[in-house]
This record gives sequence, C-alpha cells and structure tokens, in this order.
Amino acid sequence: MSFTSKFLKGEIGPDDYVGKTFDLIKKKDSEIRAFITLRKEEEVLQEVKERIKQGGKLAGVLLAVKDNISTAGIRTTCASRMLEDYVPPYNATVINKVLKEGAVIIGKTNMDEFAMGSTTETSYFGPTRNPWNLERTPGGSSGGSAASIAAGYVNLALGSDTGGSIRAPASFNGVYGLKPSYGTVSRFGLVAYANSLEQIGPIAGNAEHLSTLFSIIAGEDPKDATTINYSAEETAPIPLKGLRVGVISNIMESSDKEIVSSIKNAINKMSDEGAIIEETELKNVELALPSYYVIAMSEASSNLARFDGVRYGFSRYSEGNWKETFSKNRGEGFGLEVKRRILLGSFILSAGYYDQYYIRALKARNLIKRNMDSLFSKYDILVSPTMPVLPPKIGEVIDDPIKMYAIDLNTVLANLTAIPAISLPVGFASGLPVGMQIMGRYLSDTFLLGISRFMEQLTGLHDLVA
Ligand code: GLN
Repeated sequence: MSFTSKFLKGEIGPDDYVGKTFDLIKKKDSEIRAFITLRKEEEVLQEVKERIKQGGKLAGVLLAVKDNISTAGIRTTCASRMLEDYVPPYNATVINKVLKEGAVIIGKTNMDEFAMGSTTETSYFGPTRNPWNLERTPGGSSGGSAASIAAGYVNLALGSDTGGSIRAPASFNGVYGLKPSYGTVSRFGLVAYANSLEQIGPIAGNAEHLSTLFSIIAGEDPKDATTINYSAEETAPIPLKGLRVGVISNIMESSDKEIVSSIKNAINKMSDEGAIIEETELKNVELALPSYYVIAMSEASSNLARFDGVRYGFSRYSEGNWKETFSKNRGEGFGLEVKRRILLGSFILSAGYYDQYYIRALKARNLIKRNMDSLFSKYDILVSPTMPVLPPKIGEVIDDPIKMYAIDLNTVLANLTAIPAISLPVGFASGLPVGMQIMGRYLSDTFLLGISRFMEQLTGLHDLVA
C-alpha cells in the first residue's frame, strides 16, 4: 500500500508519512530522477501539519506536479534551459484548487522539454528512468509525474496531455491517468504548448484517487475563457452490465502482440461482467497523426515566440541587433526537438503553405471528429491499447522523431476530438505494465472514472509500486 493510502487511513502520522517518503526518494531518485525540483523535507513536513489542521479532501496529502504548471515561489522550468531559473509569481488555477483542499506540493517533476516528446528524454535535465525497468523510459511527456507514483513516492500527481502525455506515462508505469474533456479543467498557469489540444489532468495510483483529484481541479475558471460551466463529483464504481463497448480493431492490429493479448484478456473480463463487446473500425485513422503534428507544431511555434531572452526566458546575450540577440538566446535556450517543432510550425503557417498544410489538417481533424461521433452513436465507450508498444529503451526512439511520433497514434485521437480518455493498468507483458485506453463521449469524464473504479476491482491492479 502506498504511504499516501496509509496516511489517509490513519495508519501513519505526518512525521512518518513525510519521513518515509523522503527516505525512499533519497534512496531511489538519484537513479530514477522523477523530480527536477524537490522541496526541503522540513518545509514539506511543516506544511503537511498545517494543512491537516486546515482540512479538506486532500488534507496533508503529498502531490507531485509536472514542471510546466506554474507554482508561486517554486521554480517552474518546463524542463528547458530557457526557463532554468524561472520562479513564477503566481499559481496556476489548478494549484490554487488543490491547495485549498489541503494538498502539499512535494516537488516539480521531470518532463519532455515544453511537453514535446513521448519518453521524457527531451528534458534539458536528462531522462527519467522507468521504475519497473531502469533501462526503459517512463513514457512522456509527464514521465516524472507517473514515475513518482510507480516508484512509491506519492500516489497523486498532476500532468498535462496535449497528445497523450498523461496516458502514455500512465500506461508505461502501471498507473491511472485521465485526459479530461476539453474545457473542463482550467489551463490558466499551464505553460502553453498547443492550446487547442491540451488539458491538465490527474494521474494516480488508483482510480479512486484519480476521481478525487479530478473532482478538485475541474470547473469553470474566469481566467480561462475556454473553460465551460462544469462540475465533477467524485464517482462510485459503475458496473459494466449492458455497457456497449467498441473495440477499435484497426488500432489493435497495429499494436504489439503481447499488448493485444493483455488487452483481450481485460476485454474478456468485461464481457464476463455483462458488457456487450463488439469489434469496430475507426475510419481515416491514418490521418490522425499527421493532422495532430501539423496542428501541434503550428500552435507551438506561435506559443514559443515569446521566449526570446527579452520578454521571457534565457537571456545571456544582449549585444547586436534584435535578430542576433534573439537567435543567440533562442539557439542556446531551446533543445533540438523544440527547435525542430518551431521551425516546422513556422513553415506550416507561412504564406503559401498555410492552406496546403494547416487548413488541411483542420479538415482532417473535423473528419476524424465526425467518424468518432458516429462510433459513439453505437457504443458507450471505445477501448484500445493506450500505447502500441512497451516502454521504449532509453535512446531507442529519441534519435528518430518519426518513430517517436508514431507511438502516439492511439492517444492523439482524444485530443483532436476534445473527448475524455483514461489509461488504466490491465496487465503485464515481459515484466512491464500494459495500459488500456478507454475513450468516451464529450463530458463523460466521471462516467469513465466510474468504469475505471469498477475495472480496478476486477483486475486487482491498483496502487502498484515497482
Ligand atoms: N508526444 C506528443 C507530442 O510530442 C504528445 C505530447 C503531449 O501530450 N504533451 O506532441
């Protein structure tokens, strides 16, 4: 059982809770490297004690936070040299919400630089290692958040998901992660990568904590005009009887065999519980990755223009004209993958190419949305593997961007279409966790959480620590 679960059950007090957690981090994190910034133990302990008095749904609970979510007074680097020394003067809305419920931020977690990547290897601070197998990546981009749960440090964390960055690491670490419906969670204070695709979301060791954390962070925010009037209650397990489940066969086919057999196993268990299982096909699925990457890179190139060493970010050079200054600061402040995306994004949006790439990508996005809608007229949920492969070895995909982009096929669908998607552990293959993705209709987030709570009882796979 995680320290957090023991603490919540009253089996250990605050001194033990914080002490054991920091001991474990000291023991394991020089290798795993889930954190970019870890707060001081004394400071955290004092805060835990204060928050217990204050009360709330997470009174005194330790929370790990991805390093692209602004935390007042705590360095927020986006795993980039560009923001190596940046300390935000304000909190993201989600941070204010979790603090109000008594949570204590233990530290900021490693990620791909500006959330661009699928393995946490593009970080300026070096890769995080997968606690289940130190030669493997933890997935990304919220790799540090998911690894901090699998390593047993914490049981709740925040991540962000633009094209799979919560679900990929959730899958690779044997934990639960939700990419919420677009507009349900405020993005105020999230350092933007691709605004039209991303959401902040919860990651947890079990579906109950996932549901609690989502209920806290969800809701309309006057500071983010894309949020909607929405409130999420904590969800009880929802039995599967009569549930219409579509299994996306053309996605299953393109996944590794051992993953497929693990997923089929879980599907059989669902069927035993009375779910109605049917194989189905998602049309035009081959358009998903190209349209995702065209849109994501376009938005990224625009969002990252502000980091020039004058307005924001790494600022070593000020001589010469503005062009020379900007390009020197940007040249040294950004890593390779980020530069690749800024260049491609600027190219895509330039006169003459805009129609050919950007507009066509938006059309493809619409088409996929229509195809998804038609599946949801027949099925309550759609299932597939979260990731088509087991966690890549460190160094395996990082030098081959096309290979890295390709493993996002199953996850980008939910971001392109604004719907909620959960990854939950359903088994192991070659000693590594396998995650199943469940997608649902727009705003069915709490329904998916209820199903996940039922599934965690069915599989017995929760609070797994490597
Ligand atoms: N791997 C995808 C990308 O690099 C998704 C990243 C994310 O969700 N932030 O764009």
